[in-house]
Amino acid sequence: MTTADRTPRTVDVLVIGAGPAGLAAATRLAEAGVDTVQVIDREQHAGGIPRHCHHTGFGLRDLHRVLSGPEYARRHIAAALRAGVSLRTGVTATGWAGPRTVDVTAPTGLERITAGAVVLATGARERPRSARLVPGTRPAGVYTTGQLQQAVHVHHQSIGRRAVVVGAERVGYSAVDTLRGAGVEVAAMVTGLPRHQAHPAHALGARLRHEVPLLTDTTVTGLTGRGRLTGVRVGHRDGRTATIGCDTVVFTGDWIPDHELARSAGIPLDPGTRGPETDPAFRTGEPGVFAVGNLLHPVETAATAALDGRFAAGPVLRHLAGEPWPRAPLPVRADAPLRWVAPGRIAPDGPPPPYGRFTLRTAAFLTRPVLVVRQDGRTLHRQRVPRTVAPGRPLQLSADWIARADAHGGPVRIGVE
Ligand SMILES: Cc1cc2nc3c(=O)[nH]c(=O)nc-3n(C[C@H](O)[C@H](O)[C@H](O)COP(=O)(O)OP(=O)(O)OC[C@H]3O[C@@H](n4cnc5c(N)ncnc54)[C@H](O)[C@@H]3O)c2cc1C
Repeated sequence: MTTADRTPRTVDVLVIGAGPAGLAAATRLAEAGVDTVQVIDREQHAGGIPRHCHHTGFGLRDLHRVLSGPEYARRHIAAALRAGVSLRTGVTATGWAGPRTVDVTAPTGLERITAGAVVLATGARERPRSARLVPGTRPAGVYTTGQLQQAVHVHHQSIGRRAVVVGAERVGYSAVDTLRGAGVEVAAMVTGLPRHQAHPAHALGARLRHEVPLLTDTTVTGLTGRGRLTGVRVGHRDGRTATIGCDTVVFTGDWIPDHELARSAGIPLDPGTRGPETDPAFRTGEPGVFAVGNLLHPVETAATAALDGRFAAGPVLRHLAGEPWPRAPLPVRADAPLRWVAPGRIAPDGPPPPYGRFTLRTAAFLTRPVLVVRQDGRTLHRQRVPRTVAPGRPLQLSADWIARADAHGGPVRIGVE
């Protein structure tokens, strides 16, 4: 492909991804007077994941009301359009032709867009069955929650008669609600952990309202069926095995950031989150390229993603005004049983993360853990969390300690005592 084959375009800011994070960033930038803010999304409609989530529970922290996913998405889209954002759907970013020059495929042809700043807001997705290395046949009837919700709410497809839901985080309970709403019986929820990881009200609702049994300490060991799924083979930690007859299985949770664009630009990824490594100002390792939303923390609520977008507008404006692009010197790393911490890079004399706190995830249940921040064997901070922390649920760490870190020292490590 030569430059001549692509229509060249120039914008002040290119936002890739029209979910809550990208829309909120673009809205703030346009409201602040940036001339050309363009948001592109590969889907035919803007709004990101909330567009497919017909349940309520969106918007409390950013829009100060509780909305269904589609209504929440509509409000962010309306705000962006009111602010003067150029919103283009059916447009996919496919690669880079330079540090801030992105190749895209649009319904009208191929383009090459050069921007003063690029904001990556491509979100996260659930790992599909193939990435979870589940053995067995390759029948139809296998979904992630995202695919299920699109099939039901966008394409109005018929799903099946009897399903197994793999995973017992909040999103697993969303899958149960979607299946029940589509008239599908849920034979069981299966989790490899000793208990569910959702809010107790969700779990109780699934058990009482839908009578869904929860199989704990149990993993999926295979799928059966040719053409259509006929069953899910499961194994308990104590060695017992069984096959649950069903024509549908939904793999939920187990998120992976949509990081392909960042990777193809050679932007360093965070070893914990697998999203681009950023500092508290949402700056990646590539000057002029920012990242926001669930691409950085797979996954938080839509409001957290949208608030990221709003916070990032300030640093983007300063970059457009010519602020140098500092590389925060210190990596921040999570040690097992913690899985990840975000943001993954700090400067002791730089700003703290938004709201003065880091976001973390654990791989195991922790009862009233003490989080300990260390650098080169020196303890910078200790913090007791006065509750039980579950995998897949938010965990926050104060950023009060960052000025005590040594800019010339080794990585900052966060562990559990
Ligand atoms: C089943 C389910 C239930 C949920 N329930 C709730 C809830 O009740 N309350 C709540 O607050 N949150 C909920 N969430 C979480 C919420 O949806 C996310 O936090 C939020 O959507 C994250 O926003 P985002 O902008 O970071 O990413 P996304 O919403 O994922 O948006 C990313 C966008 O980027 C686009 N994109 C990706 N790659 C490209 C590319 N190369 N070119 C162009 N476009 C691209 C995608 O098409 C997508 O539209 C739920 C999530 C799921 C899956």
